Amino acid sequence: MDLKEFIAIVPDYPKEGILFKDITPLMNNGAAYKEATDQIVEFAKDLDIDLVVGPEARGFIIGCPVSYALGVGFAPVRKEGKLPREVVKVNYGKEYGKDILTIHQDAIKPGQRILITDDLLATGGTIEATIQLVEQLGGVVAGIAFLVELSYLDGREKLDGYNVLTLMTY
Ligand code: 5GP
Repeated sequence: MDLKEFIAIVPDYPKEGILFKDITPLMNNGAAYKEATDQIVEFAKDLDIDLVVGPEARGFIIGCPVSYALGVGFAPVRKEGKLPREVVKVNYGKEYGKDILTIHQDAIKPGQRILITDDLLATGGTIEATIQLVEQLGGVVAGIAFLVELSYLDGREKLDGYNVLTLMTY
């Protein structure tokens, strides 16, 4: 199955000059969503994962079915102000601006092996911030999985030394 058939390319969204990769057609198709999930599970199954972590909102869509298949939990990374209990936070820059990401302070136990998931790697700012949150809590980033990598934005350079899977590259 060619998963790229399920990515809609939207010009000038969310602003002029951006070619946005819309993953909702992939999620909308049961066979394509299952195939993408299965490929990430295959990558993760020998990594001895204890927990999946993903940034809002599309990191949840990718990570939750994977955590279910692996039989492990899922911890959400969210924008500041969205998690109700004590958090750790990190400032980050992304393709279209700056923000703060947070994770519950008790979400990860030191030494736990973490799979990080997101839909798309662009400049790498979001994933770099997510890695920092995991590592601040003593988690070990055992793998990082994306549906899509925009290789022309060089986000990979921020992921040197990590075990990274991307299912589609543009
Ligand atoms: P980065 O932080 O790597 O520059 O941007 C990646 C983050 O922004 C991801 O969380 C992703 O959801 C979102 N993002 C940036 N560009 C796109 C895009 O073209 N398509 C989708 N689906 N998400 C994008």
